Amino acid sequence: MASSSPPPDSGHGPAAHERPSPGPTPPRAAPVPPLLGPDDPPAVTVLNPEARGPLLLVCDHASRAVPKALGDLGLPEEQLCRHIAYDIGAAELTRRLAAHFAATAVLSGFSRLVVDPNRDLDDPTAIPVVSDDTVIPGNRALDAEAQARRIEAIFRPYHAAVADAVAAVRDRGQVPVMVSVHSFTPAMRGVARPWHIGVLWDHDPRVAVPLLDALRADGRWCVGDNEPYSGRDTTGGTVETHATPAGYPNVLLEVRQDLIATPDGVALWAGVLADTLGPILSLPSLTAARHYPRD
Ligand SMILES: [Zn+2]
Repeated sequence: MASSSPPPDSGHGPAAHERPSPGPTPPRAAPVPPLLGPDDPPAVTVLNPEARGPLLLVCDHASRAVPKALGDLGLPEEQLCRHIAYDIGAAELTRRLAAHFAATAVLSGFSRLVVDPNRDLDDPTAIPVVSDDTVIPGNRALDAEAQARRIEAIFRPYHAAVADAVAAVRDRGQVPVMVSVHSFTPAMRGVARPWHIGVLWDHDPRVAVPLLDALRADGRWCVGDNEPYSGRDTTGGTVETHATPAGYPNVLLEVRQDLIATPDGVALWAGVLADTLGPILSLPSLTAARHYPRD
């Protein structure tokens, strides 16, 4: 960014560049120019913000959109349609569940290839240079300012919206129940994944264990318990940021993407989850914050 021209309204001459005497906190870095323009979608979408129940749905990987200013990240269109860009079917499933339960849902507006809201910002995969063996040219050699533009425009508004949604539930005197909705690929590096759905959890069993039981009792599904990923390996994700530290009941769902790639599939899985999750949401154990620390 050019820094030689003075601000257009500067009447202070060189003094405008002088810092005031140091206060108790150091001055912040110069403001980052905004990343998003009028032709971009919003950074975050919140459905049913006036919901009355404790269920709070989050969909970190809802969108494959890339800000206009970033072009195509150097990727061909077919790569931007793949799972590396977003969780296929997850947004539609989240919307169905939000409608069924009349629950608030928070959906991210941009591809995880731009910045992944389900990562700690210290995690190198927060702005991935490689995803599932595909190099992301537009993410190579990003300087701190370029990273900050993405974080300020997308990551922080998403997390602020989740925090606001949590606060809204608390303001009603309820304990939020966070359900994070994702999808996974049918195969990874040539290895088929047999599960239809995975229930990911850390040490809070209040939603996960009865949900595992209910899904298995259905009899139709191969159900992963902390498969294909484990909720015990993760740090800094949305659930670990907004639910676990406060002791709020939570679960992360991973539905195999080929099962929810069509409207019929989404409808089927929304029905399965409505039937299994519904009774769990009224369990008394969910009405209090409680901590389940890692060993
Ligand atoms: Zn995901």
